[in-house]
Amino acid sequence: MSGPVDERAIDWVNEGQLGIEVRQGRTANIGGFQVVRVLPTKGRRTVGAWCFVDLMIPPDTIDPHPLEIGPHPHIGLSTATWLFAGEALHGDSLGTEQVIRPGQLNLMTAGYGIAHSELSSAGGVLGVQMWIAQPEETRHGTSTFEHHASVPQIELANGEGSLLVGSFQNATSPARADTALVGVDVHLAPGVSEVDLQPTFEYGIVPIDNPVKVDGAIVEPGWLGMIEAGPNSVRLEAGAGGTHLMFLGGEPLGERIQMWWNFVGRTKEELTDAWRAWQNHDTDRFGPVPSRLARIEAPPPPWLRED
Ligand code: MN
Repeated sequence: MSGPVDERAIDWVNEGQLGIEVRQGRTANIGGFQVVRVLPTKGRRTVGAWCFVDLMIPPDTIDPHPLEIGPHPHIGLSTATWLFAGEALHGDSLGTEQVIRPGQLNLMTAGYGIAHSELSSAGGVLGVQMWIAQPEETRHGTSTFEHHASVPQIELANGEGSLLVGSFQNATSPARADTALVGVDVHLAPGVSEVDLQPTFEYGIVPIDNPVKVDGAIVEPGWLGMIEAGPNSVRLEAGAGGTHLMFLGGEPLGERIQMWWNFVGRTKEELTDAWRAWQNHDTDRFGPVPSRLARIEAPPPPWLRED
């Protein structure tokens, strides 16, 4: 992926400004499904409690791809699924079977343990899959699944947004939020939008289709534009084609998390326990999933391979 931003340009833009850090996403493969992984990225694990952002957008095409991810487990996180095109069937160990379409939000919270599967209908999907780390208070708790058939719509100076989680301007999403955070799907018209920020939040701007200037720093599609906590507002500028982007933020987590495979914990021992439970078909922790897809086996954790 090439873009007009080089290191020198970033340094120049950042000089005397708010300190926008720009990180390039990388392509990854999930069960044959090409994604662009924006978070975690080198040296940056979280934006607020957001700890994982995959754009389900093939880097080489705008065509939807089929999504077929068999039953697999999660602990210590919420998954937020938001589609731009197509539809997918979510199944989980709570017994949920739920179709999701563009404009709708699936929010699954794992707590101590949940298993789920995702299967797109004919034609495939475009969208974004995000994880939110759970805080200490809830991460050992019971799992929940929420489907929101619609989410609050918000107006921006030069665009509009769908509020997935948290609060933004005068709106609050009905979706569960275990930490102070915000997630908005934003469509900007060409031109400048001044967006209010919560000074205690850090933010990540993730363009989907076209680049956006974040206080003058160019952020390309599939990249992460980071705004550290502090400022009261940010200037977003879209080019002639406008921009579709994800606007994510939250209070810095304040806890050091450990992520491996589909698990978020605090220690390797916790991750190992979850891995063993899945390998041992421990249905007390990870129940059966209504899905015709094959179960996904976990690789051994690297710290066990080294022994
Ligand atoms: Mn999953």
